[in-house]
Amino acid sequence: MSGPLPGAGIASLWRDTADTELDLPCLNGDTQADVAIIGAGYTGLAAAHRLAQRGVSPIVVDANPIGWGASGRNGGVVSAKFRLSFPSIAQAHGMAVARIMHRLCHQAVDEVEGLIDDYGLSGARFTRCGNLRCAHTERAFRCITEEAEWMRRELGDDSLRCLSAGEVAEETGSHAFTGGVLSSGVGTLHPLGYVRGLAEGLTQRHGEILFERSPATGIHRESDGVRVVTTSGEIRARQAIMATNAYSDLTSVSAMIKSRLVPFRSSIIATEVLPTTLQERLLVNARSYGETRRMMRWFRKVDGRFVFGGRGAFGKRDSKSAFDALQRAMVSMFPDLAGIDITHRWSGHVGMTLDALPHVGRFDDRLCYAAGYNGAGVAMSTLLGRLAADFAIGETPEVALLETSRLKAVPFYPLREVGIRLVAGWYQFLDAVGR
Ligand SMILES: Cc1cc2nc3c(=O)[nH]c(=O)nc-3n(C[C@H](O)[C@H](O)[C@H](O)COP(=O)(O)OP(=O)(O)OC[C@H]3O[C@@H](n4cnc5c(N)ncnc54)[C@H](O)[C@@H]3O)c2cc1C
Repeated sequence: MSGPLPGAGIASLWRDTADTELDLPCLNGDTQADVAIIGAGYTGLAAAHRLAQRGVSPIVVDANPIGWGASGRNGGVVSAKFRLSFPSIAQAHGMAVARIMHRLCHQAVDEVEGLIDDYGLSGARFTRCGNLRCAHTERAFRCITEEAEWMRRELGDDSLRCLSAGEVAEETGSHAFTGGVLSSGVGTLHPLGYVRGLAEGLTQRHGEILFERSPATGIHRESDGVRVVTTSGEIRARQAIMATNAYSDLTSVSAMIKSRLVPFRSSIIATEVLPTTLQERLLVNARSYGETRRMMRWFRKVDGRFVFGGRGAFGKRDSKSAFDALQRAMVSMFPDLAGIDITHRWSGHVGMTLDALPHVGRFDDRLCYAAGYNGAGVAMSTLLGRLAADFAIGETPEVALLETSRLKAVPFYPLREVGIRLVAGWYQFLDAVGR
């Protein structure tokens, strides 16, 4: 899905198991709308939904088929978190800000559920099954336990519960962990089913407003709005929303987002359907699971298969060695999986920001955006798509630290690949020595 993969075959489990096929038109000729949206992942589609709901007409173009980007490739973990912890947010910015940020995270999960209910998206397979964060050292267990206690005390968050090493082993089937924190209320979904379902629902409800295979190549200011040029037609609109996130390098139209994000490859493997004995022993409560390493690996079970994700290859291409490393990490955590075949492997780009937070708002009087989910964007992009729409309408919703002035350009952008390798190497070293 993301460039050729020598010798490894490329297949996404989501493509093989999505129950909605879509074939939307490409933009042909000139058209008009109140707001033109560039990018039809969760951000762009949630924005379109919000606009239409408020009586404002959207048109969405995507350079690729719906779900080609991260929204069709991700792990489907619906989380209520930022990469920055809430205690660090409170320490740096005060409790009032931490409370707003905490509310936004939970609102994001509710937003996903609300859209899925509204459009009746059974193919999204959303469930609030909870997430178990598994500690890889005693020190990490102390940290997440203290954090959970802080969340309960300071934010009144009673969705978190600490589990002993024995309880985690019983639930996961792995003895690699020293304990864990269970977070209820969050969940999982079928990522491609969600994005395709949304696109189908929007089309059924609002007519021909989504166009695939229609890359935007230019945005021009006009006296009364903008003119978005695509390879096969133009849209005249009062406002535009840029929803291209980690794929902002496809054309120069999203250069202002590209220069503010560091794209990082995230990879996923899925096994063959496990023998029944293993299905019964591993991940018995079928939640999503993550660990505490800085270079975090996560896992879940889907249709009896074990799905495992983490850092992918550096550079522009996938590599067999990166997938092999992922498989080795999986087997070292779950020795029972040695000898089990990998049937699917795929990857995609996540958009990292310098402050480890996503952002939403206005670039100028004609252009709004939402981007930079730092690998935790299933729920957050759904919420920030909605808020980008509110900005486009002229409102200024409360977004605390997610506001635009905090989204800084990446310094020395051409050297970002080297920077990624250095930071990843340093993190891997800290993980290896248990810090
Ligand atoms: C492998 C992987 C695993 C992940 N796992 C998780 C997870 O488990 N949980 C979680 O919360 N988050 C996860 N994420 C992150 C999450 O998927 C993203 O944050 C989210 O999907 C971002 O949605 P988006 O709509 O902003 O971007 P995308 O879904 O990437 O959509 C951007 C779209 O813009 C289009 N585009 C770009 N340029 C143009 C142009 N010039 N004209 C028209 N269209 C254009 C692209 O074709 C693309 O379809 C993962 C990401 C990856 C890659």
